[in-house]
Amino acid sequence: MARPLVLDTSALLAGRPLGPGEDTLVPEAVSAELRPGGRDRRHLDLLLAAGARLVEADPALRAKVRAEAQVGGEAGRLSAADVDVLAVALGVGGEVATDDYTVQNLARRLGVPVRAVAQQGIASEYRFVPRCTGCRRILEAPAEECPVCGSPVRMVKDRAFRS
Ligand SMILES: [Zn+2]
Repeated sequence: MARPLVLDTSALLAGRPLGPGEDTLVPEAVSAELRPGGRDRRHLDLLLAAGARLVEADPALRAKVRAEAQVGGEAGRLSAADVDVLAVALGVGGEVATDDYTVQNLARRLGVPVRAVAQQGIASEYRFVPRCTGCRRILEAPAEECPVCGSPVRMVKDRAFRS
C-alpha cells in the first residue's frame, strides 16, 4: 500500500485526479479555504465522492509544524491550511502533494516526502493563475493584494500545467 497522499490547495487547484487505489486525504482546513459553490469546491466534492477522506489535524502535530516554521522564519507565510497539510502528513506517515514552495521546504525539514503537482504530467497546456509576488502563494481568485502577506498579485502561467 502506497503512502497516503495529503492534498493542499494548490494540488486541488491543479485538478489532480485521484489515482487508482490511492489513499487521498484532504485536511479540513483546506476544505474550509475553498469558496462554497466555487470550481475548486466542486472538484473537492468529486474527490470525496471518489473515496478521498476529509481529516482533522492533531493539535500536537500542528504545534510541531508551527515550531519548525518559527525556526525557519516561515510562520508568516503559512496559512492554517498549510499547517494542517503538514500536520496530517506527519500523523499518517503520508506524502504531501503541493506546489507551494514554503510548504515544500518545511516538509523536507520535517521529514515529510513531497510530490510536486507540476511533475504529475496531468495537463500539457498553460493556464494563468493569480500568484502573489511576495510569498508566491497561488490564490484561489484574482485579487489586487495577497490576503496573506499584502504584496501585489500578478497573473502568471501555472507551473502545475507546464508540460
Ligand atoms: Zn503573499
